[in-house]
Amino acid sequence: MAELGEKPFRGRQVYKWIYKNRVFDFERMTDLKKDIRSVLRENSFIGLPSVAARQKSEDGTEKFLFALEDKNLIETVLIPDDYSGRMTLCISSQVGCPLGCKFCATGYLGYKRDLSVGEIVGQVLAVREMYGDGVFDNIVFMGMGEPLLNLDNVVAAIEIMIDPIGLKVGAKRITVSTVGIAPGIRKLAESGFKVNLALSLNATNDKLRRELMPIGKVYPLEKLFSAIREWTGVKKRRITFEYILFKGLNDRREHALELANLIRGIPCKINLLAYNPVEGADYQRPEEEDVDCFAEFLYPRAPAVTVRKSRGKDIAAACGQLAGKKGYDAYHG
Ligand code: SF4
Repeated sequence: MAELGEKPFRGRQVYKWIYKNRVFDFERMTDLKKDIRSVLRENSFIGLPSVAARQKSEDGTEKFLFALEDKNLIETVLIPDDYSGRMTLCISSQVGCPLGCKFCATGYLGYKRDLSVGEIVGQVLAVREMYGDGVFDNIVFMGMGEPLLNLDNVVAAIEIMIDPIGLKVGAKRITVSTVGIAPGIRKLAESGFKVNLALSLNATNDKLRRELMPIGKVYPLEKLFSAIREWTGVKKRRITFEYILFKGLNDRREHALELANLIRGIPCKINLLAYNPVEGADYQRPEEEDVDCFAEFLYPRAPAVTVRKSRGKDIAAACGQLAGKKGYDAYHG
């Protein structure tokens, strides 16, 4: 609006129409003068990511393949929670991902580009457009990409999400999940938002972590845990550690003990999840009894432990299975 020579409050009006009222047509923004509406129409457009395909799992999980303006594809997943009956929206922050974690289908795609603020928020708007405002309670940055590598846009998107005249999602209902970009954790803490942080830990020693997640070479556990201690200190909140169990690699008692030692003194909860097989990766899913055994051993040694069920496995929407373009072929057989 400033660029068009208009008063800044006009920008606020348009903002409210788009995010609060979900009106995507300038003509329907009735408190704007007609000439402003036509200038806006000539100089700009409002575009949501379009649904290129969608799939519903037998467990109720729904996966959307969104096409962006430049035809790149990303995935967004709507996940029902067994216990609370609430829905969680899992959104992407990049097209592909540069970090190449060995258990993740997105990692095998490689990196194309970061998502813009509009493309991040657009996923939320597009799903609300289909199902209404109350469709989900929680938003997690656990889709394609590493959010802390696109931190400026992620922070700007969060600002719109938590704004009462924006998307009006409580900050405590938003979780940013990282594989461990230590400086990004510090920067996110400085942003002052009361969002949650989840760390995809998956290994209790640097050797295995480096093997599973090459970013472990840049930020070994010592560096990472110093950033995490700062986060829990500044935020006075607990962090969630995600721990994917791989058969024979990190699912034994000794690993559970190492894990308990590693997180000692940190306000946290641990989510355990059995590995979901992805094409090209040579890892195996542990038996259910081994996961239970691991959890039982950990319970008395950790503040809180949850065994998470994989959701949407039948449509490759579970953790680590999002694959964008490659996924497109799967939607269409
Ligand atoms: S797990 Fe996350 S950071 Fe690792 S490759 Fe997949 S999307 Fe990237």
